[in-house]
Amino acid sequence: MKTCSLCEEQSKKTRRGNPHQYLVKVDEARIFKGVNPRGFEEQDYLCMTCHAKFTRSTGKNDLAWTLWQG
Ligand SMILES: [Zn+2]
Repeated sequence: MKTCSLCEEQSKKTRRGNPHQYLVKVDEARIFKGVNPRGFEEQDYLCMTCHAKFTRSTGKNDLAWTLWQG
């Protein structure tokens, strides 16, 4: 299925941003604790419109939003 326009926009967000209105959380957030005592989290999202999958990361070295091409 083709990626919807909202997901196209989402994948271009390089800064922290909120998920678009049709993105729903999948599973629990994965929490990583490492050298940085505050650690970081990854959360998977699924688009209800086009079924694209995203991972949102709060890690400083990661992209905020990663679109998994299907
Ligand atoms: Zn979508």
